[in-house]
Amino acid sequence: MIDEEFPVASARLATWIQRYREGLRRRPVAPTTTPGAVRAMLPAAAPEQPESLTAIIEDLDRVISPHLLHWQHPSFFGYFPANADLASVLGDMVSGGLGVQGMLWSTSPACTELEMHMMDWCADLLGLPGQFKSSGAGGGVIQDTASSAALCALVAARERASDGAMNARGIGAGAGGRPLAVYASSQAHSSIEKAVRIAGLGSASMRRIDVDDSLSMRSHELARAMRRDQEDGIVPCFVVATVGSTSTMAMDDLASTAKLCRQFGAWLHVDAALAGCAAICPELRALHDGLEGADSYCTNPHKWLGVNFDCDLFYVRDRSALVGALGIEPEYLKNAATASGEVIDYRDWQVPLGRRFRALKLWFLLRLQGAEALRGRVRASCGLAQWLVARLAELPHIEVLSPQRLGLVCLRHRDGEQATAGLLAAINASGKAFVTHTRVPWPGSGSQASCTLRVSIGNPYTLQSDLEGILHLLASAG
Ligand code: PLP
Repeated sequence: MIDEEFPVASARLATWIQRYREGLRRRPVAPTTTPGAVRAMLPAAAPEQPESLTAIIEDLDRVISPHLLHWQHPSFFGYFPANADLASVLGDMVSGGLGVQGMLWSTSPACTELEMHMMDWCADLLGLPGQFKSSGAGGGVIQDTASSAALCALVAARERASDGAMNARGIGAGAGGRPLAVYASSQAHSSIEKAVRIAGLGSASMRRIDVDDSLSMRSHELARAMRRDQEDGIVPCFVVATVGSTSTMAMDDLASTAKLCRQFGAWLHVDAALAGCAAICPELRALHDGLEGADSYCTNPHKWLGVNFDCDLFYVRDRSALVGALGIEPEYLKNAATASGEVIDYRDWQVPLGRRFRALKLWFLLRLQGAEALRGRVRASCGLAQWLVARLAELPHIEVLSPQRLGLVCLRHRDGEQATAGLLAAINASGKAFVTHTRVPWPGSGSQASCTLRVSIGNPYTLQSDLEGILHLLASAG
């Protein structure tokens, strides 16, 4: 495509996107695509000659959009939301158009400095403790996902704990090659164990700590596990506290976890992938109580605040620990700005070298929407979840997991596993809504986990009437 066509072509695509969004309520939320069906509609080889944009738009209508799970659909209640506000999409378009690489400050100063500034804006908007602001020893960086944030935090913790010592495989270890251990509740996200594997600690170093009736990590169990490891010559290295678990939005107690981390010299990482976004509302900030004891923290505005995927805010108390672990400087990247020590080079804060200009989408969203609108969408989701819980109380065959938190409602059929699984299948087959499931040890059932439906509300376009579809299906299963 010649550059002069870009304004018209992009306007056509913008119109297509806007119409797709506008028409979502008329579509079933989930596709009925069979494996291989999409590839069967695609030509076997890439085109040798240019095709028209019209042909591509026709294929968006024929090949792509009918075969999507519509994440922006107002009746999408699966997983956690991934809201992509079009204000943020505009910023991402600029990022693509500028095509800059922000690996070093010198490879595009505006890319680094806007990101530093957005991280500080967001720290203030979320009421985060001052240790995470760039004015001190800490600071923030945009990662792609919470998984990457956990991995970077763990590698920094591993290097801090090892202080140069290595095990027989050349991986950071405690003094004299002592093994390192990682702790998280049984409800923590699977990305933590993945990080443990990638960081070379091995799954055997992962300790899954038992939870109480509200599915929060039991502090005394954590203390016991760390003490036992210490007695066995294993170094307690890294603890993850979850604020808003994926299954049920369970909250770990940050203050008591931080106290134990201080006592045992372990790094505390707080994973608030979805729930941290709620802290934009001052009245919901209690979920961060005790966060000042954390070494690192992350939350995903790409989940609940409308930044289009991917955008994870990752903060550290001591940026030198992170840079010490991930920094590496080959000759071809040396430059005067880095040598001056006056700049941040974000390549040292993440796994890859190259990096996109992600701060633009956050900047566009915050400027075109304003923080008050983002607070409004969090409050609206929580209000809808409370409304749903009140309506579910009218259905004697449905049990809701208590306490219900933020925009997530967890429920099961009182007739047991099969009936609950049947509800999941019926809701998703209806096309009127999409929900996902988990397995949870409900209070009173010991460690026995049972099938649980999650109705995850977070789309700003969702209305009470969109929840009626689910209510109707749940009622008819009585
Ligand atoms: N942590 C929690 C608590 C989550 O709920 C999720 C995903 O839903 C993740 C981590 C992983 O998120 P990401 O896709 O950003 O890696």
